[in-house]
Amino acid sequence: MIIQKQKPIEEILESLKDCRKVFIAGCADCATACKTGGEEELAELKTKLTEAGKTITGMAVYDTACLSGEVRKTTAAHQPEVDEADTILVMACGSGVQTLGDYLDTKPVVPGVDPLFIGQVIRAGKYEEKCQACGKCVLALTDGICPVTRCSKGLINGPCGGYKDGKCEVDPEKDCAWVLIYERLKARGHLDKLRELQDPKDHSALHRPQRLVWERPKKKVVNKN
Ligand code: SF4
Ligand code: SF4
Repeated sequence: MIIQKQKPIEEILESLKDCRKVFIAGCADCATACKTGGEEELAELKTKLTEAGKTITGMAVYDTACLSGEVRKTTAAHQPEVDEADTILVMACGSGVQTLGDYLDTKPVVPGVDPLFIGQVIRAGKYEEKCQACGKCVLALTDGICPVTRCSKGLINGPCGGYKDGKCEVDPEKDCAWVLIYERLKARGHLDKLRELQDPKDHSALHRPQRLVWERPKKKVVNKN
C-alpha cells in the first residue's frame, strides 16, 4: 500500500489560490485506507474549501485512481462537474494525480496528499516501511526481512556493529534489521546463509522512471473446418 498523509489545508489552499471552482477526486484504495481520500475526508475538505470561498463542483472517490480505465469511467460519470471546475484536487498518491492529469490533459490537477512510502499495515493508523521497490529483491538471502529498507544504512552483508540491545544505532527506537535477520535465520536453521558474501547492491536495476510492459500472448487461431 502507498502510505500517505493529507497536506496541511494551508498548503492545499495555496495550490488553489488562482482557482475558484474545484472538483475533488479521492481514491478507494490506499487513500481511503490512509484516511486521505475516502468519502469522509472529501466531505471534510469540501466544508473547509467552501468556508475558504471555493465552489465545489463535485466530488468522486475513484475505485483506483491510478488505473487509467477507472479514471476514464468515473470521470465520464461526473463529466459536467469536472468540466465546470477550474482545477481538480486529487486526494490520492502521485500516481493517481498523474493518471488524472494525463487523462484530463488541459485541466490542471493539484495534489492534496503527500505520499510517504510503500507500507505494511500493522493495523488501521499504524504503518511501517518494509520495501523500497529497489528493483532487485534480496529477501531470499535473509528469509524475508529487508536489509535495504529496514537497516538504516542499507547494509546487505551483516550489521555495522553499532547496534545496542537489539536496537539500531541510528534510531534506538527501531530494531536493528540485522539482529532480526540473524534471529530469524537462526530459528530456521539457515545461519549458513550469512557465510555467503554478497556483491554490492546492484542499483542499476533502479533506473527511473521504471516501466514494465507485458506482452499479450497471441491468440491461437482455431481452424474449425
Ligand atoms: S530487497 Fe527490500 S527494497 Fe528491494 S525489493 Fe526486496 S523487499 Fe523491496
Ligand atoms: S545498527 Fe543495525 S539496522 Fe542500524 S545501521 Fe547498523 S546494522 Fe543497520
